[in-house]
Amino acid sequence: TIAYLNGEFVPLEQARISPLDRGFLFGDGIYEVIPSYQGKMVGFNQHMARFANGLAAIEIDFSIDKDEWRTLVQRLIDDNRETLGDNIGVYLHISRGADTRRFHAYPEGVTPTVFGFAFALSAPVKADRSIHPGASVSLAEDLRWERCHIKSTALLGNVMHFQQSVKEGNAETILYNHQHEITEASSSNVFIIKNGEAFTPPLDNQLLPGITRMLVIECLAMAGIPLTEKVITVDELLAADEVWITSSGKEMLPIVSVGGQQISNGKVGPVWEQVFTIYSEQKFVL
Ligand code: PMP
Repeated sequence: TIAYLNGEFVPLEQARISPLDRGFLFGDGIYEVIPSYQGKMVGFNQHMARFANGLAAIEIDFSIDKDEWRTLVQRLIDDNRETLGDNIGVYLHISRGADTRRFHAYPEGVTPTVFGFAFALSAPVKADRSIHPGASVSLAEDLRWERCHIKSTALLGNVMHFQQSVKEGNAETILYNHQHEITEASSSNVFIIKNGEAFTPPLDNQLLPGITRMLVIECLAMAGIPLTEKVITVDELLAADEVWITSSGKEMLPIVSVGGQQISNGKVGPVWEQVFTIYSEQKFVL
């Protein structure tokens, strides 16, 4: 596959960075993943805005024009479709760059490393609850850091939480804080439906402002379903009529079991089908 590294398109297996790159040594970088289907991107502008926010938050002084990013991302999609298929995620990564001093402080005069590559996504599922079995997730206390709104490449906390779900045979791990309030999942956001209304945790430092979350909120409005961004406790999650997790790779995944406890009747709910139908139609235009 063809990758992008510091201004050039190169075969992925030939892309090389310095072991002194601070992305490698410190996890000192910001990343994005932009999904695409049949060559069309989802949420490109929103992903670019979040990318810029993350870079600003950690004071990496790097910007390229949004149109240049668009051309770059589109090329990674187009040039890899033959090998990867029609469903492609584009990973973009900017780390602070290579510095010989192994010193924690942000170094001066270092050139950021800019890397991008494409990978296969699973095909979107049909918005049909009669054929979707629903997924199970693990439940755990959120033991990551207090800057989860920054899409940092330092993902060990997330990786460890995700690994719990792998060990337990589940699709993800939903996380709660010290107050037993849901934050998000290890690589996705959380929505619940109760009595025909939707709820999702409000944006703060405990969760990533997911682009899919943002798009799903727009789809809920189109569906005429009231959405409140508010604290959701573990008890409220377990008592919900429906639970969904959202991310660029998973889109909207309906959850029928959390931490071994069945949600509602254990079947995928009607609101998921209604909203995911809209999402599937609208995702390229939102
Ligand atoms: N939360 C975390 C911790 C994530 O890593 C991600 C991205 N995989 C999300 C939420 C969902 O964000 P998005 O919808 O932008 O993919």
